[in-house]
Amino acid sequence: MDIALPTRRDVLGALAGTLLLGDVARADAARRRREHFLFGSPVRLIARGGEATLDAVMAELALIHREWNAWKPGGELGRLNAALRAGRAAPASVPLQQMIAMSTRLERDSFGFFNAGIGAAVGGWGFHDDVMRPGDAPREAERRHWRAASPSLAQLELRGGLVASRNPVLQLDFGAVAKGVAIDRALDRLQAAGVHDAIVDLGGNLAAMGHTVEAGRPRPWQIGIRDPHEPGVIATLAPRGREAVVTSGSYERWREVDGQRVTHILDPHTAAPAAAWVSVTVLHPSAAFADAAATALLVAGPQRWRRVAERLRVTQVLAIDGDGRGEVSGALAPRLQFADAATRRRMTIV
Ligand code: ADP
Ligand code: MG
Repeated sequence: MDIALPTRRDVLGALAGTLLLGDVARADAARRRREHFLFGSPVRLIARGGEATLDAVMAELALIHREWNAWKPGGELGRLNAALRAGRAAPASVPLQQMIAMSTRLERDSFGFFNAGIGAAVGGWGFHDDVMRPGDAPREAERRHWRAASPSLAQLELRGGLVASRNPVLQLDFGAVAKGVAIDRALDRLQAAGVHDAIVDLGGNLAAMGHTVEAGRPRPWQIGIRDPHEPGVIATLAPRGREAVVTSGSYERWREVDGQRVTHILDPHTAAPAAAWVSVTVLHPSAAFADAAATALLVAGPQRWRRVAERLRVTQVLAIDGDGRGEVSGALAPRLQFADAATRRRMTIV
């Protein structure tokens, strides 16, 4: 079994987003558990059966992590981004082509609040570093340049396995969707190997299928949605069938810029960090979809998220603001057990 040594990001990751609750740490679970550290987050895989598959699944996750890092030059995405900057075409594997196609649709259906073409602005704000150092905001001229260039995946052309761009400012960054894609891949693989009960937890984004077993009896997985303002969970829920619970949190990864905390999630329309919601949780059968949607809704903020959710056809949403007040969609509300009555009173069902 592989267990990564705890690092600072491990501890941070353990605080992120969504938590797996319940008695899953029993010693006899060790054989069917794998833990790694990928995508800047701890990865946990727990499955009943399919032991031989677990290592293959982890290897695949590690491959996605390596090849689709937006800023490390060694991977496929790094090479493609270098070519796009230079105005050249570059080859893309079939999985990368699929990722581009899916992200193009998600950009369109989220009114551009999710936009995987804003890698230049994400890097410019300092979020393409492994360590988040305090620093200055990008100059206004630079921000104007990103806004004016208005990168969109619709500007990509795919011919004979080659990807080219009409916009040299377009840099691909799948940070808001790749973890979801990886989670879906992991469950697909396990399902194909005949596994029915499993959970994949990638730094607080998770998807479950089937049941866990406690005291010899099947029980639903229990998932906690972290309170973005204090230690502990704001609500718990049991996933249904195969379902992902993904949280995008502006508190999770941030830098101090000009003395203020700014989040790694940007509004593609302004090239500035998103400021309104502090965390958005989305439930959906597809983790990739939930991941991209949670990011889009967080950026859209209180005034616009419902319109975006409607267009994306996302119905199960919990959004929390900087004062700890929140909105929960009518479809999700009955499924949530809030931590206490005061927390529930701060939520509006919409
Ligand atoms: P996390 O990775 O912490 O779960 P997200 O899923 O919201 O959070 O992804 C944020 C990452 O996605 C950022 O680090 C950046 O690489 C990229 N990103 C930031 N803003 C956007 C956006 N509006 N649309 C698409 N990708 C974004
Ligand atoms: Mg996301």
